[in-house]
Amino acid sequence: MTTIDGPRTGLSNQAAYADLHGFVAGGVSSNMRARGIIEPIVVDSASGCRVRDIEGNELIDVNMGYGPHLFGYADPDVTAQIAAQFGRGHMTGLPHRIDREAAGLVAELVPGVERLRFANSGTEALMSAVRLARAVTGRTLVLTFEGHYHGWSETLLRSRGGDGRRPAPGAAGMIPEAMEHTLQVPWNDAAAVEKVFADHGAELAAVMCEPVLANDGVVVPDAGFLELLRRLTGEHGALLVFDEVITGFRVARGGGQELYGVVPDLTVVSKAMGGGFPVAAFGGSREVMEPLARYEAFHAGVYSGNHAALRAVAATLAKIRAAGALYTELDGIGAHAEARVREAVDGAGRTARIGRVGSMMSVALTDPATGEVDEAGHRLLQTACQRRGVYFHPVPAEPWFLSTAHTRQDIDTVAETISEALAETAR
Ligand code: PLP
Repeated sequence: MTTIDGPRTGLSNQAAYADLHGFVAGGVSSNMRARGIIEPIVVDSASGCRVRDIEGNELIDVNMGYGPHLFGYADPDVTAQIAAQFGRGHMTGLPHRIDREAAGLVAELVPGVERLRFANSGTEALMSAVRLARAVTGRTLVLTFEGHYHGWSETLLRSRGGDGRRPAPGAAGMIPEAMEHTLQVPWNDAAAVEKVFADHGAELAAVMCEPVLANDGVVVPDAGFLELLRRLTGEHGALLVFDEVITGFRVARGGGQELYGVVPDLTVVSKAMGGGFPVAAFGGSREVMEPLARYEAFHAGVYSGNHAALRAVAATLAKIRAAGALYTELDGIGAHAEARVREAVDGAGRTARIGRVGSMMSVALTDPATGEVDEAGHRLLQTACQRRGVYFHPVPAEPWFLSTAHTRQDIDTVAETISEALAETAR
């Protein structure tokens, strides 16, 4: 059979992945994709909540491309509009009428955004948001939280560690001074935040967090924690920056800020906004965006806000706006998944840490003796499930992202598969 990718090679996933390593360094174009893999999947196609690999296996996917697909893969409502835009020129490097439509929809749906800029990825938008916060405040220090991932730019790719001091740079090749202007404390540690403000309040340009921690398992903010960040940043003249790359349009229409009623000074949105297209945005009040409105701060990008990406944004956000009960529906799917997975884990006599907000959920097997996440056990479970036709990420910190394409029956299949796999891996 010939696909749009060319003739089928007859290679197994394993052989194709090994072959890829000769051409693509590490076999992947994002380190995140290689983490924890025991048995690789090389994709042929995806639609709804299913991916098909090059061997012809079909898997129910609950990772769903790390979160952008609220309506499932290849949603016809969105893809039709993107395809039409390709036919009308998808990139001219000039302002386009779609800019107004897409920006207007973001501003309408996200409480903290009046004006914005579009970018190509969460990393770019976050890097630009930090730079803007520094331009607005004339300060440099940024407070971050352990486990919160803010992309891979030079000043934000940090190692773990949250003792209130500077974290170590997160990867080989970063300049030693990369974290010179970054502090880090544990998530939900109010006393540690208060100490940082007491010691450095006048130096802080920004406090940055995911309003729901989604990159280290799903961990909701403690009652009053986001309010504390809002109050302290306000009192000390720092900006509160919410990284809603995951939570934006996912946990509620207006993201974490709508769900928890705490409006930041700067917001970064990305994944669910573009239905899988590489697009992100950062924005805030008219006043906060002023350095960019006057071109004093610098943000650019040949492909930033290209017409195809913004068509994806406009189509996705219009669909979100029109779908009255969307978040009730997504929460129902999430609640069903949480209950069924909990049943499967309990039924197997195992223990797990499950976190969930709406359709975003994390499942991590734990060691019953220590309560710590059992990374190796999780990977074995993942592989056993994958062989049976269910895909979730081999790293337990990576959430499940459910969509309107997941039926109750799909979720039941996932839970039954987990039961069988747990029985197998216990042997
Ligand atoms: N911020 C959060 C919360 C993320 O989860 C991610 C990516 O997963 C990023 C930022 C980086 O976004 P990107 O990979 O589009 O650069």
